[in-house]
Amino acid sequence: GISAPVAVALHGNKLTRRAGLSAAPGRPDSGFTHDGQISRAPIRAMTLAALAPRRGELLWDIGGGSGAISVEWALAGGRAICIEPLRERMANIKRNCADFGVSHRVTGIEGHAPAALDGLPEPDAAFVGGGASAALLDRIWALLPRGARLVCNAVTLETDGLLTARHAEYGGDLMRIQLSHATPLGQGRGWQSARPITQWSVTR
Ligand code: SAH
Repeated sequence: GISAPVAVALHGNKLTRRAGLSAAPGRPDSGFTHDGQISRAPIRAMTLAALAPRRGELLWDIGGGSGAISVEWALAGGRAICIEPLRERMANIKRNCADFGVSHRVTGIEGHAPAALDGLPEPDAAFVGGGASAALLDRIWALLPRGARLVCNAVTLETDGLLTARHAEYGGDLMRIQLSHATPLGQGRGWQSARPITQWSVTR
């Protein structure tokens, strides 16, 4: 037969099965302190995939909300600067970073982008999850080093229009994410659609 250490390596340790944190992004919303301003787990997973974190890389997370994107970026081995103007939300961001053990990898900045971007160290990737405007996208584009990645999520028609126009001008990948969840409907179940998200990803 095989030795005990090899058996554990092949089959895992039953004692730790299901314990602890998932290794993949898109961790449950319920694990985060938030006031509703959080990208839902499946959207978050797709956003992290588009952001494509590498160990040691720096993310600008603009419109931090609950900080969930920064937390999951940091769990992947990166460092993040999380920008959020509202004090109560910055408190949630700090709390989530502490709860997930990544406080040392995430710096919170209470302020509005683009002003809050002045003087920051160059990022490897930037995410816009709130506060998108033509002026903000122009400023990010001017500050991003070549090869850096930019990912923007839109839920409003106005931001959708902005991202659609930028995609025509700068290229990259424009994706519409339309999710539905099964919910109770009468005696059965029905598909409940979430608001569609438009996601623009581009490399500078
Ligand atoms: N990014 C979060 C969700 C954030 S919701 C997530 O994926 O989980 C959008 C956030 O953007 C709100 O908290 C709002 O306060 C913030 N916001 C709005 N305008 C902003 C601006 N100009 N700069 C930075 N943050 C802004």
